[in-house]
Amino acid sequence: MSTFKAPKGTYDLIPPDSAKYLAVREAIAAPLRNSGYGYIETPGFESVELFARGVGESTDIVTKEMYAFETKGGDRLALRPEGTASVLRAALEANLHKAGNLPVKLWYSGSYYRYERPQKGRYRHFSQVGAEAIGAEDPALDAELIILADQAYRSLGLREFRILLNSLGDQECRPVYRAALQDFLRGLDLDEETLRRADINPLRVLDDKRDDVQKQLVGAPLLRDYLCDACKAYHEEVRELITAAGVSFEDDAKLVRGLDYYTRTTFEFVHDGLGSQSAVGGGGRYDGLSEMIGGPALPSVGWALGVDRTVLALEAEGVTLQLPAATSVFAVPLGDEARRVLFGVVSELRRNGVAADFSYGAKGLKGAMKNANRSGARYTVVAGERDLAEGVVQLKDMESGEQVAVGVNEIVAELESRLS
Ligand code: AMP
Repeated sequence: MSTFKAPKGTYDLIPPDSAKYLAVREAIAAPLRNSGYGYIETPGFESVELFARGVGESTDIVTKEMYAFETKGGDRLALRPEGTASVLRAALEANLHKAGNLPVKLWYSGSYYRYERPQKGRYRHFSQVGAEAIGAEDPALDAELIILADQAYRSLGLREFRILLNSLGDQECRPVYRAALQDFLRGLDLDEETLRRADINPLRVLDDKRDDVQKQLVGAPLLRDYLCDACKAYHEEVRELITAAGVSFEDDAKLVRGLDYYTRTTFEFVHDGLGSQSAVGGGGRYDGLSEMIGGPALPSVGWALGVDRTVLALEAEGVTLQLPAATSVFAVPLGDEARRVLFGVVSELRRNGVAADFSYGAKGLKGAMKNANRSGARYTVVAGERDLAEGVVQLKDMESGEQVAVGVNEIVAELESRLS
């Protein structure tokens, strides 16, 4: 071990487990690629101000969890705590919304940073795959994203997740509800910080995880009862489209989420095998965000799914992914001449797309065969001086244990035909 360890709240992805993370990212991306979403990559840091305005001045993410710093040049930057604000900033900067093809549909995959209290499923560095559909107000778009996330989780073999759905209303009906909720909250026995929160962002109090707070919230007014007709109709349409697609969900009138930019459709994917950090993904509509960061009105909707928690959910359900073996053929040379010959065979196999590896370093047959076993290769090719003198190599099927001599010039073709 070196003197150094991974920083608190972080961990390394190491083979063989790291293959699961790649597979999860790929499984989430596949339905997006298949539905018109283009890949976008933005910097790992942005101006602090983008997140302050985009995520919300009073959110935990901005007030407590951001890795903010000043550069030597005097710029105030922050490691990105989430993806949506950056993606929208990039889309606006590149004028994607002016190309006349709305919505602009984008997907991304990357690392995010929040200075949180670490625990299982909650890290300071984590990984998300996300999707944003920018510049269209259409319930079918909200439904599309929910259906694609459902498809992604199902393709991985997950079953014990639930979709929670709510509407947060819009500029017209939310303020009325907000005032009613504030009235209600002022009558409760809450600590000072929570009362302050009730002043700045009362909806977030509904999300308080403490039992004594939740008990007091039992009779709280619900946004559902305050939605204007347009929001009600919009939400009903989203619900119908998802239902028609065979995706089941639960209405959750108290679902608010921790970011300020959401309007109308809000949803969260929760997994029941994960304990307190049960949200594996979430998202919603953010019709006002573009204007909040200085852009034109661009109603949009998106989600982000957490890769770390999705892997934990797979483990909780006991799902093992069908991962292709990393290596199909492992070559074991005995002697210098065999090294040259088999190294050539391995290079040719690789050029032809066969996953092959080689026994490096001066090892005896026993040690080399141990490596071959560990590699998971289906076939091992062994050659010594006597084999080469006869113009052959030994081809061993690691599953059956059966071994045959194959001509040096035929071995590549023989392996390709056996593996196809
Ligand atoms: P949020 O932007 O908070 O809605 O997060 C979206 C998803 O990212 C969550 O549902 C989690 O799966 C994941 N996520 C958020 N914060 C963390 C964290 N600190 N550690 C691990 N995963 C996280």
